[in-house]
Amino acid sequence: MSQKIAILGSTGSIGTQTLDIVSQNPNDLQVVAMSCGSNIDLFEKQIRKYNPALVSVGTEELAKDLKTRIADLDVTVLYGMDGLISVAAFDSADTVVTAVVGMIGVQPTIAAINAGKNIALANKETLVTAGHIIMPLAKEKGVSILPVDSEHSAIFQSLNGERHNEISKILLTASGGPFRGRTLEELENVRVEDALKHPNWSMGAKITIDSATMINKGLEVMEAKWLFGVNLNQIEVVVHPQSILHSAVEFMDGAVIGQMGTPDMRLPILYALFYPNRKTLYAEPLDLFKVGTLTFEKPDMETFYGLSLAYDAMDAGGNIPTVFNAANERAVAKFLDNKIKFLEIPEIVSEAMINVNFINNPTIKQVLETEQMTYDFIESRW
Ligand code: NDP
Ligand code: MG
Repeated sequence: MSQKIAILGSTGSIGTQTLDIVSQNPNDLQVVAMSCGSNIDLFEKQIRKYNPALVSVGTEELAKDLKTRIADLDVTVLYGMDGLISVAAFDSADTVVTAVVGMIGVQPTIAAINAGKNIALANKETLVTAGHIIMPLAKEKGVSILPVDSEHSAIFQSLNGERHNEISKILLTASGGPFRGRTLEELENVRVEDALKHPNWSMGAKITIDSATMINKGLEVMEAKWLFGVNLNQIEVVVHPQSILHSAVEFMDGAVIGQMGTPDMRLPILYALFYPNRKTLYAEPLDLFKVGTLTFEKPDMETFYGLSLAYDAMDAGGNIPTVFNAANERAVAKFLDNKIKFLEIPEIVSEAMINVNFINNPTIKQVLETEQMTYDFIESRW
């Protein structure tokens, strides 16, 4: 019997690669529901190809347009947050791939867990802001949260058969992004086009900017803490520009177990969907002779101080990781819009962390209120 999946964000970088995995495994995977934001040209093609029963788009207008376009098909079309939640909790789905970008994924992810779905999690912002609610809820509902982020998938793979052994350290690798080795002065006037040029990975715009500021790695430190239950001081960021070692775990005896591979997100997607089984991935295999050299260096936390702010945010706890994340989301949007400079991104995050009110152990409602308070603070200043 095939596994039935729902995809939140099917038109994005992770969403389209997930559909590629479905195409490679037509007898084992079936898409029953999916959502997009606004790219309904691509979405229509996807609907015709994968035949889901339920779909959702960003707005009511887009839903009307889409309904007209696919009037010949028997598909329910919804929109907005309610639509996203319906896709996440869709009856016949076994697994939900969370591939939306940003903390818009919080409520749908919680709805999916409440409906007993396993989660293939790409949407890290959701764990960063609501990990304290999501992890216990998943445990209570007996559902798995399977990492799609390449580093976390590598850590997860390195922990196979090691569950009873204590982790001494997680080595979280980072490419360093397009600006590795630059000084603050050299970053002063970088343009959006420069920041969008990632050396190894082709990804959505938001995460590509996050990689350039290294705030992506900060979000991933928090994601790792929630997924693997380790302390912050056990997570070490290791800059590894070739992106071949996707991360590793050091055990008490000093053994370091890691996962290597070409930089291809379809591998962690495939692994999450078929865990604990491995399947053939129709892709270029790793050629170590071609790679030749693997190098490792310490991150420059002073130039890329967004990364050190992430440790501060997690240390502060409560709603501060939400402030960190929401401020970054808004700042990145402004940078992409050419409204602020590159170095203003960490500056805005830092100012928001100082100025937005602290709430201990926030409920989901308070997480969402914190998001709004953070946006309001930023609008008042920038
Ligand atoms: P993209 O920007 O490529 O895709 C985002 C998806 O979310 C699109 O389908 C988009 O729809 C949809 N979306 C955006 N806004 C809304 C909205 N308001 N309502 C409903 N849907 C919306 O992002 P990525 O695929 O790069 O990233 C997705 C997540 O995965 C992020 O959390 C990212 O950090 C994480 N991730 C991504 C990796 C990658 O390689 N790309 C690697 C590891 C993690 P549309 O385009 O139709 O508007
Ligand atoms: Mg990653």
